[in-house]
Amino acid sequence: MKKIIAAAVIATVGFSSAAFAEGLRIGVSWASFQEERWKIDEAAMVSAIEANGNTYVSADAQSSSAKQLTDIEALMSQGVDALIINAWDKDAIGPAIDAAANEGIPVIGYDRLIEDDRTFYLTFDNVGVGRIIAKSVVAVQPEGNYAIIKGDPGDPNAAFLLQGMMEVIGADVEAGKIKIVGEAFSDSWKPENAQKNMEQILTANDNNVDAVLSENDGMAGGVVAALGAQGLVIPVGGQDGDLAAINRVARGSQTVSVWKDARALGKAAGEIASALASGTAMADIEGAGIFSDGEKGTPINAILLEPTPLTRDNLNVAIEAGHISKEQACEGA
Ligand code: BGC
Repeated sequence: MKKIIAAAVIATVGFSSAAFAEGLRIGVSWASFQEERWKIDEAAMVSAIEANGNTYVSADAQSSSAKQLTDIEALMSQGVDALIINAWDKDAIGPAIDAAANEGIPVIGYDRLIEDDRTFYLTFDNVGVGRIIAKSVVAVQPEGNYAIIKGDPGDPNAAFLLQGMMEVIGADVEAGKIKIVGEAFSDSWKPENAQKNMEQILTANDNNVDAVLSENDGMAGGVVAALGAQGLVIPVGGQDGDLAAINRVARGSQTVSVWKDARALGKAAGEIASALASGTAMADIEGAGIFSDGEKGTPINAILLEPTPLTRDNLNVAIEAGHISKEQACEGA
């Protein structure tokens, strides 16, 4: 990451003093702020953009693909030099990418893949996140009836997470050791939709469910509520490092939360966007590799950060990193 900062600084040296004084404008289009993590991403992004002498402008699509398109038009009319887009819907976002390309504005697909080689993809290893969720749950519940609570179908991460989970449990499912007794998408990643899905799966199976793989912590909260209503405590996996989820891990109602340090992702985005805005080519971003594991197999310049598993044994990692206080993590545990 240090090298990316250096690239941005070198690239800015050639600017006229007027342009330099004003800095460049980085427009950020958020899909929603439903999950706790996004405000953490945003704070880190703002700091990195400002540290590069640039200005942060943003819009919140509030879970609407239509609003996201008009948001991006509005950001472009404010004269942004680069866009960071956290896409609400992988297909509906297409026209915004065309519009940005027509104006020569570089785009970062933030956290969620926009499968278009005119974008730079910055995220965590989402397949890896799915693998960690499944591995941690299998470690405590190696057989029996599994439920899989998926996120929103318009988000490519829902498919990547499932892919990682199946890499871990696939052979045991084939062998009949693990049985998937319910699998459902939860529209808009809403915890209440996850809770409803879980209730239906429990009813359909006379409560005979032994473990749950949930694609994020917010939904794991809904799952734990549905289980609790039936007096059940079984292994549940999630991701995001939500503070409430870390506390559930400490108390034993959740097995794992895979933590993707949003501070690192937001900082990287602010730095990369600053570099792209000042003319650095996507392929020249330090640390970039080629990602081609999307639905269409399109090769895209990308950086994938490594996620961190948080289980009862290593919660100190999140405490020492300053993500959560010891009191908050361990409250009631
Ligand atoms: C992100 C998760 C988040 C989910 C819902 C996914 O794309 O990777 O961290 O919980 O969206 O916002």
